[in-house]
Amino acid sequence: MLMKNKLISDLKKELPCVLDTLEERYAYSQDASNIKNIKNIADAVVFVETAEDVQNVVRIANKYKTPIICRGAGTNVVGSCVCEHGGIILNFSKMNKIKEISCENMTAIVEPGVILGDFQKEVEKFGLFYPPDPSNLAVSTIGGSIAQSSGGAKSFKYGTTKDYVIDLKVVTANGEILRTGANTIKNATGYNLGSLFVGSEGTLGIVVEATLKLIPKPECKKVVAAYFDTVSDAVQAVNAVIEQRIYPATIDFMDKNAIQTVEKFYPANLLINKDALLLIEIDGFECSLAYQENIILNVLKSCNAAEIQSSHNDEEYNKIWTARRSSMGACAQLKPNVTTDDVIVPRENLAKLVLGIREICEKYGLDVCMVGHVGDGSVHPQIPIDYNNEEEYSRYKLAKGEIYDLTAKLGGILSGEHGIGLEKRGHIHKVINSVALNYMRQIKKTFDPNNILNPYKIF
Ligand SMILES: Cc1cc2nc3c(=O)[nH]c(=O)nc-3n(C[C@H](O)[C@H](O)[C@H](O)COP(=O)(O)OP(=O)(O)OC[C@H]3O[C@@H](n4cnc5c(N)ncnc54)[C@H](O)[C@@H]3O)c2cc1C
Repeated sequence: MLMKNKLISDLKKELPCVLDTLEERYAYSQDASNIKNIKNIADAVVFVETAEDVQNVVRIANKYKTPIICRGAGTNVVGSCVCEHGGIILNFSKMNKIKEISCENMTAIVEPGVILGDFQKEVEKFGLFYPPDPSNLAVSTIGGSIAQSSGGAKSFKYGTTKDYVIDLKVVTANGEILRTGANTIKNATGYNLGSLFVGSEGTLGIVVEATLKLIPKPECKKVVAAYFDTVSDAVQAVNAVIEQRIYPATIDFMDKNAIQTVEKFYPANLLINKDALLLIEIDGFECSLAYQENIILNVLKSCNAAEIQSSHNDEEYNKIWTARRSSMGACAQLKPNVTTDDVIVPRENLAKLVLGIREICEKYGLDVCMVGHVGDGSVHPQIPIDYNNEEEYSRYKLAKGEIYDLTAKLGGILSGEHGIGLEKRGHIHKVINSVALNYMRQIKKTFDPNNILNPYKIF
């Protein structure tokens, strides 16, 4: 207790805003993961404003060997912000400046607390585009998306966050400032340290500034919604569309349970009697849109699409995407808790994954709403559950393990975009071999010898 008091007193001396009441610490110790049985909460919450503030916190954390857990909006779903061992929460909401948008370089320099959706809107004013779009981009931050290498619906054509980070300014675990690159769109100068930090879940360094690549904003876009009577037909259509060498921006998916659950809570005229819905977004120059749409419509019809609707204006476009983005919120209305997962397989095994997850959930008596960025081979099973029902919770744990076993068997991995955090660390060995895991542990030790940066996350 004495040490904690000293820690807080040191923090208050050096930093502009430190919260330490029980209520404040509790409020910042949760994220969107629904992790059960975490006994600890943060010792203090520090609102940083500059890189120097971050360096000061690191110095104090090293003195007391206290964990530092960076926090953006706390929307990750794997427990990456949970304070399992107490520690200092670094809150970046005051480091939220867009420092530069350069049309000439097609890059932007931003602080980690910038909200992703705001950033996208800002660059679009210049005719530019930043594609990573996790469904909750209205609240999640650049720092969080870098740390999780977030993706979203547009990953199929445009990739994920890792494809857009060209330089990072990072405060290391010993308080130094490290730069991973420069404001250039290519870099073959030494090891690619930037790629180590992207997706490292705040375990290797603290991002205080990022230079991001931008691309030209597509002139036009529209979404085609295709309904199918079977999941297998829908999955077959995904591959058939791709085989046409057309490059849709997104190929997303909702199963019957997801369609029905969303329609109940966000009525968007979805067809609730169909087994599967594909959302295929096409974009590009206006003159190419009808050409792309025609090819897609023909393919969908030949793959037994039961009903096809295309958006004709922004209102229709936004309505269908808002429905898709609401899926987790809608599932959360069914039971006190909802879990979402993120498994990904080579596309050729997608149907086996989707049908296999359904079977596993049926076997354990669990409801599942499945959505996913199926163009990438990625599926998000969302399972409504009551964590206070111990018997249901243990069935869920068994189902979750079997879903990961199936994913591994199908040549997949445990996350394409959500990360590992606490939620999946006990399963990572199923897909990453022990040699690779050993190298990962050594990398962690090199960057963070005192194990103060978000300790024990990932493995
Ligand atoms: C409804 C819903 C839908 C979602 N849909 C998607 C989706 O479609 N695609 C997708 O990819 N994800 C999705 N997610 C997951 C989530 O949006 C992402 O993980 C998000 O990018 C996290 O951002 P955040 O600001 O909330 O980060 P947080 O949750 O606050 O933090 C995430 C990680 O980043 C670290 N971190 C934060 N800031 C820094 C920093 N400055 N330096 C170093 N580490 C830092 C934290 O320590 C933590 O490990 C969804 C989540 C929800 C709740």
